[in-house]
Amino acid sequence: MCQGHAILSPAVSRRLALSALTASLVAGLGACSDGPPGPAGNTSALAAPDAVQAAALADAGAAATPPVPVPVATKRIRKSFIPDVGLPPIVNGLAPVITRIPTKHPVVFLTIDDGGTKNPDMPALMSGYDYPATIFLAQTYVKDNPAFFKQFESQGSLIENHTISHNVNMVQKLGYADQLAEITGMQGFVKDQYGRLPTLFRPPGGAYSNVMRKAVADAGLKAVITWEAKANAGKMDYQYGNALRPGDIVLMHFRPEFAADLGAFRQAQLEAGLEVVLLEDFLGVR
Ligand SMILES: [Zn+2]
Repeated sequence: MCQGHAILSPAVSRRLALSALTASLVAGLGACSDGPPGPAGNTSALAAPDAVQAAALADAGAAATPPVPVPVATKRIRKSFIPDVGLPPIVNGLAPVITRIPTKHPVVFLTIDDGGTKNPDMPALMSGYDYPATIFLAQTYVKDNPAFFKQFESQGSLIENHTISHNVNMVQKLGYADQLAEITGMQGFVKDQYGRLPTLFRPPGGAYSNVMRKAVADAGLKAVITWEAKANAGKMDYQYGNALRPGDIVLMHFRPEFAADLGAFRQAQLEAGLEVVLLEDFLGVR
């Protein structure tokens, strides 16, 4: 006898069978139909999901895995803002360097770099949070599977330029011609793979020089983008203060800790009351 299941009407059973509880319920029914009730037979099917969840949490704890935040899907329309800050011009042939946007609007800009880790959960996390991001890819990290990043494009993110080889010493080691080749080569790769020429450049490792700024401008790009806040190792790091400020540009990476990093950013973004806006839209360089 399986009392937990006996109280379910056929209609309720059908509804449950169509719900996310299906797997647990089927497992419970199977246990009940096989002779005398054991521990599974005495457990209500409705309680099973909690039990499964508790077991999963216990497993996660035992493995010392950091908790993965569950994104809450937002059906609302993202707020948009009329930009109150323009793109700085190219002066003396040098592309401007933008570290943060001096805006009065409650906005923050998310940037994600490199492309080395391609976890199938990443697009769902970004979609769940409804985040558009400026994605700085380096060919060396993405050439094995460039199509992976088209998923983010379809969610409203844009692919930008982070060089071909990601040489973090390019400022010191490469002359103008080699820097220009790193940048124009990536312009061509992104155009071929994603159908759009990048407008923004991020230096590998963050270091830049006037030679680099000239190469960036000569390659047709509009600005060098750096940062003063980052999500790293599951927490936020700030160069100034201890919270996100309006206009901050946040650095993240496609790393195994992506979910934890994005969760840390989510918490900081909500605490600061900021809306995530696409940097290209705000600067008018889409
Ligand atoms: Zn990088």
